[in-house]
Amino acid sequence: MNRRVRTRYAPSPTGPQHIGGLRTALYAYLLAKKHGGDFLLRIEDTDQTRYVEGAEEYIVEALNWAGITVDEGFGIGGKHAPYRQSERKPMYRQYADQLLANGYAYYAFDTAEELDEMRKRMEMAKVSSPQYNAITRESMRNSLTLPAEEVASLLNASTPYVIRMKIPRGEEIRFKDLIRGWVIFNSNEIDDKVLLKSDGMPTYHFANVVDDYLMEISHVVRGEEWLPSAPAHVLLYKFLGWETSIPEFAHLPLILKPEGTGKLSKRDGAKFGFPSFPLQWLDKKEDATTEIFTGYREEGFYPEAIINFLALLGWSEGNNRELYTMEELIQVFSLERVNKSGARFNYDKAKWFNQQYLKQKDATTLVPIFDTVLKEKNIHLPNEKIAHIIALVKDRCVIENDLWKESSYFFTQPTSYDPAVVEKKWNEKAPTIVSDLTAIFKQIQEFIATNLDAAFKAYLAENNLKTPEAMPLVRLLITGIGAGPSIFEIMAIIGKEESIQRLKTGLNQLALSSNPS
Ligand code: GLU
Repeated sequence: MNRRVRTRYAPSPTGPQHIGGLRTALYAYLLAKKHGGDFLLRIEDTDQTRYVEGAEEYIVEALNWAGITVDEGFGIGGKHAPYRQSERKPMYRQYADQLLANGYAYYAFDTAEELDEMRKRMEMAKVSSPQYNAITRESMRNSLTLPAEEVASLLNASTPYVIRMKIPRGEEIRFKDLIRGWVIFNSNEIDDKVLLKSDGMPTYHFANVVDDYLMEISHVVRGEEWLPSAPAHVLLYKFLGWETSIPEFAHLPLILKPEGTGKLSKRDGAKFGFPSFPLQWLDKKEDATTEIFTGYREEGFYPEAIINFLALLGWSEGNNRELYTMEELIQVFSLERVNKSGARFNYDKAKWFNQQYLKQKDATTLVPIFDTVLKEKNIHLPNEKIAHIIALVKDRCVIENDLWKESSYFFTQPTSYDPAVVEKKWNEKAPTIVSDLTAIFKQIQEFIATNLDAAFKAYLAENNLKTPEAMPLVRLLITGIGAGPSIFEIMAIIGKEESIQRLKTGLNQLALSSNPS
């Protein structure tokens, strides 16, 4: 293939971009970048009735946040400007005229009522999906059935009309999809799609094909839901004499609901308790109320993690590798390795990715953000100490916001003790072990983790005890919970006085509560 690789993301501004839309943009972007080509953004707003205020800005902001850089297109400009289809309206007419002149399209004057009647007739005749096609068009009011003079006078009288594509009967339409292989359709399955609406605006199908051609798109990368439209698009290329410029097609697998059945919808996020949008979206309702859909950005996810997550939602390099930067993805991505079958959405996996990116961060870089949280709680600590605490807990966090949740015991004494741990570990030997260890820890001059650890081990050896019999008790009284980073590191940070005091308080409380009164 010696064509310059040019891909596009062509969303319709009908609402916030779904996380699946971001994946489509990502795959198109990766493909272009891998081949040193261009990635374009085109706004497909020909259906003005579905236009939603703010959707365009949202798309641009989401791509920026994700680090998907647009080379050419909406908001950037380029040699094929404008990139918003409604602004290109005058450009489409000439191609419709060309199709009319060559017999590949026709005028249709049918009113909404007439179309409705046709549909009803078909339904009565038990036609499962009534269509305007090679058979039904024969009994409708169009330039194929009406005498030429009548057509001319209707046009002269400015009678409203649409221009329809004349789909041939009984033809096989085949094309090779880069993900699915050969796809074959019979033209009888396709309706005579409207190309130009009565207001002169093109439909999605027409504008999409004309623009892909004019914008020299080499690869159409889009969701599987567009596969049924592809044969009509392929025919349009032929009808317009653009056969040699037909782009390669790649229809991406659907993103499925977490349970694995059905396409993930915009509302599923709220239903299953995870964001299904990259950024927050305020949905303004007609009754002036606003519904808030949260986004990955607002939930504290790193864009790098979301990109990595989405890259693997339907693609893999063919090994077990999971972590990739955008640059690495550009190197290794290929459409051949995109799965044919749907990809199940797994929020836990998204969290796992974020956790990996958080782990990779140097604790010192997180100090300013955590210091702000601490200061809000009136906790003032030197940076080194904050960095030390972050280093101890960050591997247990999914997002930066979890830092406080995972480390609050460094700053405040436990107010309760995890009942599950108490139940499991607090036995009749516990009070003795704790008071012995408290006395031992009290003797330690240099209250550092290695010294605490050594003293603890010596005590276990002398008393023939095992770590699980004693360590969870210390952790429980110091932190209130059953898991966390090294308990001796924690004690070293909170200091001797505080540690001893927590052990004593805890012992008193648990001894009291477990003493039968
Ligand atoms: N405007 C279509 C959409 O909203 C674009 C489909 C395509 O990429 O051809 O998804």
